[in-house]
This record gives sequence, structure tokens and C-alpha cells, in this order.
Amino acid sequence: MEQAVERRRDLLDRYRIKKKFNAIKKEKFPWTREVTKYAAQQPFIELNKAWKRFFDKKAGKPKFKKKGKSIDSFYVGGDQVRVNGKKVKIPNLGWVKMRESLRFEGKINSMTISRKADRWFVSFQIDAQISDVPCKSQASTGTDLGGRKLAALSDGVAIAAVAPLQTKLRRLKRLSRQLSKKQHPRFKGDTTPKSKNFIKAQNRIARLHAKIGNIRQNALHQVTTYITDHYKFIGIEDLNVKGMMSNGRLAGTIADIGLYEFRRQLEYKAKRKGCEITVADRFFPSSKTCCRCGTLNYELGSKETFKSPSCSLEIDRDLGAAVNLDPKKQQKPEVLREFTLAEITALQRKAGLSVATSIDEPRIKQQNLSMDRSA
Ligand SMILES: [Zn+2]
Repeated sequence: MEQAVERRRDLLDRYRIKKKFNAIKKEKFPWTREVTKYAAQQPFIELNKAWKRFFDKKAGKPKFKKKGKSIDSFYVGGDQVRVNGKKVKIPNLGWVKMRESLRFEGKINSMTISRKADRWFVSFQIDAQISDVPCKSQASTGTDLGGRKLAALSDGVAIAAVAPLQTKLRRLKRLSRQLSKKQHPRFKGDTTPKSKNFIKAQNRIARLHAKIGNIRQNALHQVTTYITDHYKFIGIEDLNVKGMMSNGRLAGTIADIGLYEFRRQLEYKAKRKGCEITVADRFFPSSKTCCRCGTLNYELGSKETFKSPSCSLEIDRDLGAAVNLDPKKQQKPEVLREFTLAEITALQRKAGLSVATSIDEPRIKQQNLSMDRSA
């Protein structure tokens, strides 16, 4: 036991690991002198956090990054960050053009440069003053996610699935099929080289993945902003967040990522606007319970309508689930009106509410700026 504790302490002690690294740095890693000091500094801080998450049983054992598998990114501390209009200075590289200038004023604490498909991004961490408009409504809602719609709310507002996303997902399937037909190693130890066309197809897929991610992220931002602007009391389903967390945000199916991200956004926006979130019991069968009399109906199949076995209620399944998740159960509409994201945004403008247009989050008050690829 004592040994285990000692080992734990040892692993967590980044200063000790750093010391060991420094001792062999010059000889074994001469490249560290050619790059920013943060390249040989920040990873130890991240490693420390990773071990802490592991010992707190919040995540798996940290793994080494792998070229082509991990997200390519590096951190630069505030003292080395320089921004001039639409230009940012990257240590040992020089001034690089950005697509837009900084949107937030305030002290820059750090920046992280990362790559998504064939694009490079820079995120700044800034001490910014952000004024939140508190939610003025007293309304409550339950939110049911997934299914055929993006979201269903208990007052009968449904947000339609994002159409471009559907076409892009189909395209992704087709591209993946094409990729498998191009020349590439097919098993471990296969020495077949990757053909140029295989690499091209791989890049196409990476770009499409990035695009899909952006569409999804944007849709979720619009929905979570809409909800936190219009409802003070918000009911959501519980998710196996811990299971998903164990692998970072990459875990689970595509739908899971959306659900986890939905909850993350909803929680921080609710906190800023003074909304209250109620999480349903993990095993509460929200889509199998009658929202009028509470009778369970397990024989749903894939039917879109929920039929109550005892009170004759017939209701859209997603709407029924949303009503069940409503913490105040104030509304019990029978029909669902479906809106597109654009219509939802228009509704918001009409009501004089602000629509979030930039990424502006609490922990990472950041802004992504895409940079010229060649630069
Ligand atoms: Zn019923």
C-alpha cells in the first residue's frame, strides 16, 4: 500500500519528472533548444493533470501522443504571445496572418495552436469581461435530444435535424468506401505502401470530418443559446458522462458526442444566465412513459407516436419524452411544431435576444482563428 502511495506521488510529481528530463535534455532531445520553451514545459503540466484524472478515476491511463492519431497542437505562454491586428507571432516561426483580428479585449494568458484536417487554428485564452444577459423567462422545459429531430421541447417546439449534416454524413460513408478500395496496407506488418490516391482520399475524409464537426457544433450552440434564453427551468436526460469522459470527447458514438457537448454547453450557459438544470434519473424511461397518466408502454418499436395503454393519449414520442423531462410539467401540448435552426434564430431576433456568434466559453474564453495554411 505504502509503495503504491509512493509510486502515485512520484508519478504526480511533475517537478521530479521534469528534473529527470532536464538532465538528459541536451543530449537526447537537442531539438528542444530550437523551439519555444513551452514545448518542453507545458507537456509536464498536462501529464500531471492526466495522472491526476487517472488516480481520481475520472479517466484512463495517459497515453503517448501518436502522429496521425492525436490532435496536433502546442501551447505558448502569454509572455511569448504577440498579436498585431490580424497577425500573430509564433515563436521561432515569425508573424502569421490570421483570418480575423481578436474579438475580445483583455490580457492574453496563453495561446494554443492546433490543426484540424488541413487547417491551422489558434485559440487565445483571455481575461475578458463578458456581460451575461440573465434569462428573463420563468418558463420551464424538458429537452429530448436525438431521434429524428435535433431536439424536442415540452412546449411543442421542435428543432429540425440539420439537413446539410445529413447529406455530409452520406457523403462520408461514400468516401470511406472509396478509401478502402485504394492501395494501402491492410493488416499489421503489411508492407504495401499507401498510394497517392489513398492519401488524397484520406485528406478528403479528414476535411469532411472537420466540416461535419463544425456544423454540429454550430447547431448545438444555437440550440443551447435558444433554450437558455427562453427557459429558466430546464430538464434533461442523464447520460453516462463518466463513461464518455474516460476517453475524452472522442469517445462513444457520434450521437453521444453530440449529447455530451449539448450538456456541456447547456450547463455553462445556464450558469451564466441563471437557469436551473434538472437531470432526470439515469434509468427514467422518458420515451416509454405516458406524460399524462404515467403508465409505461414498452411496446414502442420504432413508431413515431406514443400510445398510452390506459388513458388513450396519443402523442409524438419525442414530445412525450420532453414533457416527461420538464421539471415543472407546466405544458402538455399535443402537437409538435418543427422549426429549422434559421427559424429559431429569427424567433430570437424578433424577441430582441442576442444570438451567440462567437465561441465564448467560461473556462476557455477563446476564439478560433483560422490561419493561412501555407504560412
Ligand atoms: Zn396515459
